[in-house]
Amino acid sequence: LKINKNYTQIMVSEILKIHQSLKSGGTTCADLIASKISELEKCSRNATCAILKETAMAKAQAVDAKLKAGQQIGVLEGVPFGLKDVYLLEGTVAAASSDMLKPYISPYTATAIQKLLDAGAIPIARENCDSFGHGSTSENTVYGPVANALDTSLVAGGSSGGSAVNVALSHTAFSIGGDTGGSIRQPAGYNQIFGLKPTYGRVSRYGLMAYCSSTDCVGPFARTAEDLRIVLNCISGRDEQDQTTINSEPVPESATAGTRSLSSFKVGYYSSFFSNPAMDSAIKKGLQDTIEKLKAAGAEIIEMESLSPELMVGTYYVLAMAETASNLARLDGTNYGARVDASNLKEGYMQCRSRNFTAETKRRIVGGNQVLSQGHSEEIYLKARAIRANMVADFSKQLSTADIILSPVAPSLPPKIGSSLSKPLDMYLSDAYTVGFSLGGLPTLTVPFGTPIGMQLTACAGGEQKIFEFATALNKIL
Ligand code: GLN
Repeated sequence: LKINKNYTQIMVSEILKIHQSLKSGGTTCADLIASKISELEKCSRNATCAILKETAMAKAQAVDAKLKAGQQIGVLEGVPFGLKDVYLLEGTVAAASSDMLKPYISPYTATAIQKLLDAGAIPIARENCDSFGHGSTSENTVYGPVANALDTSLVAGGSSGGSAVNVALSHTAFSIGGDTGGSIRQPAGYNQIFGLKPTYGRVSRYGLMAYCSSTDCVGPFARTAEDLRIVLNCISGRDEQDQTTINSEPVPESATAGTRSLSSFKVGYYSSFFSNPAMDSAIKKGLQDTIEKLKAAGAEIIEMESLSPELMVGTYYVLAMAETASNLARLDGTNYGARVDASNLKEGYMQCRSRNFTAETKRRIVGGNQVLSQGHSEEIYLKARAIRANMVADFSKQLSTADIILSPVAPSLPPKIGSSLSKPLDMYLSDAYTVGFSLGGLPTLTVPFGTPIGMQLTACAGGEQKIFEFATALNKIL
């Protein structure tokens, strides 16, 4: 992959373009949706596990009827989007790209998706991902590996790989991914689009299948920053159904207007990223060049220290495995999805879980139960929680001096399809630069420029507006 130099129009919204075209009669909504569905049908990248043709066409016709009657439509009305296979959307199979839930039909709709439906956006695809979000390549899925939008021999990244690919190929105007430890930011980088992990709690997790509940975040992928802003504002907000949600101010339109100058930003970076021998040289150079250009533009650059990538990855995986072991305990073959015939209850649990979880998911359940078990929990689980608390304190200190932390998305470029699943430890280590911000609950945006797999821009909790302002200003000099 090469650095993309074509991202000069990041504040021109594609959603608004669709909106204008619908209003002016440039296209009917039925034609628009039909053409996107036909693109999805022809696409051979395994990005989509279900096309929601019938319901989408019915919604499109309703939008056309409204327009014909001379009624106003909202900005998101009639706009086609995709959702990762871990969201509930009433009446659709919500398999989490696993055999376990292939027979499971969503009984209700996730809050974030419902808000989009209420705004008139049209879901057209359920998108392939790593089973239950377990992975970094979108190969741990029963629907086959997702191929990268830019080079089909490479992985799409993960776990929200299908969503990133559909957006990169313009099959959807935006897609809703899920980010627990990097699953929006890393595939966004690998497919050179924008992806936002909002502040933890800004978007309700109700109706998102729980992986690591203490870091799970709902967020959008799009081809422009302005589109991310529009979608973020639609899906955010306090929700009675998710007690960790917070109220937040919408990110104003001015954030992507490009009025704030780079010289008003203090930008931090971790020097250890550059001394890491595992760092790809093109990614390293892209970041170094960006820092030089920022200095030249008058930004204040602050060198900072970070914990070792191994420690961040270790801490994250202890907690993520513990939480997923606990969350997935409910999938025992009685209430949800797959069932087996067995002579007794225990045998039924064993058979159902052994047959229907993937090897990677089983590894995490076994690991999680191990770190939570008596005798190990103090040594491992509670220690990881203490390290996390220190990390949170470090981040908050760093972000009291810096406005933005600039960092790589991953240490290396996307691997070839087929080369990762047999090396889980390497795969875990490839998450080194995303998992820390997840543990910190911080908002982080992947921008598709600067390095061949983009860069991450992180701010303090609730600092989404600052991130958008910085991304817009930075785009002008790259
Ligand atoms: N790759 C990380 C993991 O497997 C993150 C996945 C995610 O954010 N869902 O846990």
